[in-house]
Amino acid sequence: MAAQTESYTFKSEAQQLLDLMVHSLYSHKEIFVRELISNASDALDKLRFEALTDKSLRDEETPLRVRILADADGRTLSISDNGVGMSREECIEHLGTIARSGTKEFAERISEVKDADPESLIGQFGVGFYSSFMAADEVTVVTRRAGEEGATLWRSAGGGTFEVGDAERDAAGTTVTLHLRDADPDNGLPDFTDEWTLKSTIKRYSDFVTYPIELRTERTEPKVDEEGEEIEGAEPETIVEWVTVNSMKAIWTRNPSDVSEEEYAEFYKHISHDWEPPFERISFAAEGAFSYRALLFIPDRPPFDLFYRDQKWGLQLYVNRVLIQERSEDLVPEWLRFMRGVVDSPDLSLNVSREILQQDRRVGAIKKRVVRKVTDALAKIQQEDRERYDSFWEKYGRVLKEGAADQAFAEKVNPLLLFASSADESKLTSLAEYVERMAEDQEAIYFITGESRAAVARSPHLEAFIAKGYEVLYLVDPIDEILAGHLTEFAEKPLRSVGKGEVELGTEEEKQEAEDARKEKQATHEALLGALQTTLDEHVKEVRFSSRLTESAACLVGEEHDLSPQLQRMLKQANQEAPAMKRILELNADHPVLERLQALYDEDAESPRVAEYARLLHAQALVAEGSPIPDPVEFSRLVVDLMVRA
Ligand code: ADP
Ligand code: MG
Repeated sequence: MAAQTESYTFKSEAQQLLDLMVHSLYSHKEIFVRELISNASDALDKLRFEALTDKSLRDEETPLRVRILADADGRTLSISDNGVGMSREECIEHLGTIARSGTKEFAERISEVKDADPESLIGQFGVGFYSSFMAADEVTVVTRRAGEEGATLWRSAGGGTFEVGDAERDAAGTTVTLHLRDADPDNGLPDFTDEWTLKSTIKRYSDFVTYPIELRTERTEPKVDEEGEEIEGAEPETIVEWVTVNSMKAIWTRNPSDVSEEEYAEFYKHISHDWEPPFERISFAAEGAFSYRALLFIPDRPPFDLFYRDQKWGLQLYVNRVLIQERSEDLVPEWLRFMRGVVDSPDLSLNVSREILQQDRRVGAIKKRVVRKVTDALAKIQQEDRERYDSFWEKYGRVLKEGAADQAFAEKVNPLLLFASSADESKLTSLAEYVERMAEDQEAIYFITGESRAAVARSPHLEAFIAKGYEVLYLVDPIDEILAGHLTEFAEKPLRSVGKGEVELGTEEEKQEAEDARKEKQATHEALLGALQTTLDEHVKEVRFSSRLTESAACLVGEEHDLSPQLQRMLKQANQEAPAMKRILELNADHPVLERLQALYDEDAESPRVAEYARLLHAQALVAEGSPIPDPVEFSRLVVDLMVRA
């Protein structure tokens, strides 16, 4: 078959990325070395995995390694590995698109923030391979998939297109060759054919890579004869050597006091594909019958797929420094899916399957400890540097709430929760801080759920609580509705919705007084309340006097275990069965409206205006809490009538 070269255009998002790289002013252009080595290291891992089940894929004699070769005269740099390689199709797919689920989002975000900070945005998406165009004006890839005969050539000059053709390669693996741009040290582009530059870059960014990274070095020595005597007049001899540059020491096995924060940060970047240092590092170890080491990181920037469905998560699992699982979900719960890191245990078996791991009690024990260590670390930050914690919460609060809604973790996560509250407009509060501020006679932690801070802050439901000097938490995240169902108690104080059940505030005496007064009014106005109830029967199950209103005329409340209207709406939106639930209309017995209504009723109990006012009261109670009203047309007609009559 004749060698066939075809031309392709990059998918648009890859194109955008490439443009950014070509024109990048990023001052650490050397990171492309790290990216290419990281890809090589991934390819070596993959080959090792595949060879576990198909021994023919790999020649056990040849060690897995990365080799780097610089040619100063030709101004090229090549990075080659004897890893899994790529087939022609894989090459087109992987190097012509951004083969990640975040592609679409990336494309959107990059056009949104055109002039914003593209470099930092790039970091989030781990652009890897394309970073080579920061230093090269042409990149050539020759690759051969393990288990296949033929090889593929990929080439691009960073414009809109790339070429793919046939090639030859002795063995499986990939060689990426960069045709380097002219060095420009003042703008972050040193000469990458320089041995010292290469060595220090590799040491700095890739020292912990678990495969040898070998650099081709040359030196000349005078030619000697058999006795070791210099031969006069002979051309000096060139001696070529492949020197391993990296220490290959797994960073988590080193004594933490010997590892600099910069080294940890580089390791974090290597495993997370992030470009920024992490927010926090957490490491711990266990010795004894079952020993392991863990080195974990909280990314400073949340992974872009944090709220995607079906996203993968997990920690890397090593057995004695050999990676056996890239993302082990058995080591961390889903709500800690933003965690990155490594767990290494010499006591697990190298060839253990996923299923067996899942059932391994020891793995379960690691997971428990991971949760404890992470929540402890967060609690510490919360206590010691509240501002820093707030910035964490802003990014990860919603995921943490998922943990709080899980019985197994609630105790650890509840103290970490932050909520808006009536106490301070500009700050969030923890439950412990709330409890500390509780009034002496206050029995419960009160909260209100709703769509936004602004919407709940003016809710009639709060009136009696605020009047009494009680603080109310604002639960205004959609997930808070679910959380509220689980969060029934904190520090032995019950949590109660201000929109549910009867409200009794104050001392025993005060409660009794309020109750007596309410009963009395209820008795005086019994006939009117009955008439209102009959009119509104379709919508409410009871009309009664309220002890929670001080200013508004009416509000709607539920019983202790009723679903809130927001939750009902959420269920409906998710096409889930939501039982139609009638609520209770509470009226403020001291409101002038009631007096007017009673007078109207006394004049003519059959007057259609009594019924109209009943519907108005109901509708305005709905409006006040931000719920839709059953008949907006009638509502506006009634309001206008009212204005005309006034
Ligand atoms: P990432 O490494 O984050 O997936 P890259 O842009 O660095 O993104 O690489 C894109 C893809 O190209 C890789 O996922 C891999 O499938 C393929 N690839 C890149 N370099 C190599 C290599 N040396 N050997 C095999 N496949 C590679
Ligand atoms: Mg990569």
